Amino acid sequence: MQELLSYSAVELGRLLRKGELSVKEATEAALSAIERRQSGNNAFITVTGEQALAQAEQAQRRLLAGEDIGPLTGVPAAIKDNICTLGVKTTCASKIMGDFLPPYQATVMEKLEGAGAVSLGKLNMDEFAMGSTTETSFYGATKNPWDLSRVPGGSSGGAAAAVAARECWYALGSDTGGSIRQPASYCGVTGMKPTYGAVSRYGLIAYASSLDQIGPLARTAEDCAAILDVIMGKDKRDGTSLDAPCGGLLAGLNPDLTGKTVGIPVDCFEDGLDPDVRERVLSVADVLKGRGAKVEEFRLPVMQYVVPTYYIIAAAEASSNLSRFDGVKYGWRASGYEDLTDLYCKTRTEGFGSEVKRRILLGTFVLSSGYYDAFYRKALQVKHVIKSAFDDAFTKYDLILMPVAPTTAPRLGESLSDPLKMYLSDIYTVSVNLAGLPGLSMPCGFDRQGLPVGAQLIGPALGEQAILNAAYAYQQDTDYHKQAPVAAEGGERA
Ligand code: GLN
Repeated sequence: MQELLSYSAVELGRLLRKGELSVKEATEAALSAIERRQSGNNAFITVTGEQALAQAEQAQRRLLAGEDIGPLTGVPAAIKDNICTLGVKTTCASKIMGDFLPPYQATVMEKLEGAGAVSLGKLNMDEFAMGSTTETSFYGATKNPWDLSRVPGGSSGGAAAAVAARECWYALGSDTGGSIRQPASYCGVTGMKPTYGAVSRYGLIAYASSLDQIGPLARTAEDCAAILDVIMGKDKRDGTSLDAPCGGLLAGLNPDLTGKTVGIPVDCFEDGLDPDVRERVLSVADVLKGRGAKVEEFRLPVMQYVVPTYYIIAAAEASSNLSRFDGVKYGWRASGYEDLTDLYCKTRTEGFGSEVKRRILLGTFVLSSGYYDAFYRKALQVKHVIKSAFDDAFTKYDLILMPVAPTTAPRLGESLSDPLKMYLSDIYTVSVNLAGLPGLSMPCGFDRQGLPVGAQLIGPALGEQAILNAAYAYQQDTDYHKQAPVAAEGGERA
């Protein structure tokens, strides 16, 4: 039998259902992989071994009872630490959260439980999901399993690293401006941000509520389909949840792309894009053509506005969402304060890291009277222009193909000194959130340094199936998604 952790989630689920392997064996294999790699990559903030083994036993019982609970029953997963897990410490990688134990379960966690998932623990991330490198975590940076001197991307860097390093079969992350797709790209895994509203945000600690969305990071498009089948769907506890059809993505996978048209926005392949990344992403078009798709180039000039628009809206919402962390209601509280104002001040000064403070200040500024019209209202207007440009493109194309990030994974420390440069590197991902669209990142090769490159497929709202079909087709013809960093294969590179 091949090394357990090299199976995809759907493959492992199949073995478990056939009884060729027990859920306990799979869970123990994952826990021991975490133990071996944690000191190297720091992908986890909390490991819940005991709970995982208890859930494994439960899942095994359901399997033995022949309960029909789906393809992921018993498959161990890990969860980004901004998703509330009942009774399990949830930190958002921030000091200010202290030892917060959520008194409730996020909707996605209830759904995973219903599907018989085993949860291994909580994953490292940028503090409050603000960042592109997982270096702003209070719990220390996560390292890229392909090269431990590089960042895994962010903010779901722990999720991407854990999946890439074969410490779990899949993970849930969140994506406000690229935080699932960009780390997936840097770490060579498949990650998907669903349509805004397709997955409930209930229990996701908010960064920018109008942009945040939970989604999967996994080995394959097939795995992403299976996970989305579990977590998508209307939730009355989330006011922005969509009443959309849910389920059936896995069963609906079809690699025949005959009659599908893929648009390539040439604006995304010009200045600032690493030549290796350009070459690899464009090579995806040839594989899709081989499966029957038609590929056409087009212009998408709104790309020049997406970064400033995103950073104004995201910071504005963050400054408002984070006002609840004041040392009174939950989380950590500073000591030695004189009065209530001093308590707020000291707690927030000591509890938030500098990137989070920068966003709060920026957000408060763009929302303040006198600047609101010039910045925030203007950004909302431009957001509509961006959305219309994408809507327009989708009258001609079924899918859009573009890069995920301008480069492969930078070295640790490189981005922290220049936040503006880090913000600019989000250029290819943030538009998808501003327009509320689904987007997927999949491995499409390596640069000359051997680092993974990701390609992005974007679809119209609720076009998850079309995206997954194209990625599935691509993964039938390539094996980049099967490659693992040497350390994950038991080698010495780490
Ligand atoms: N890098 C972007 C930011 O810092 C996106 C983060 C995210 O998607 N959570 O805002």
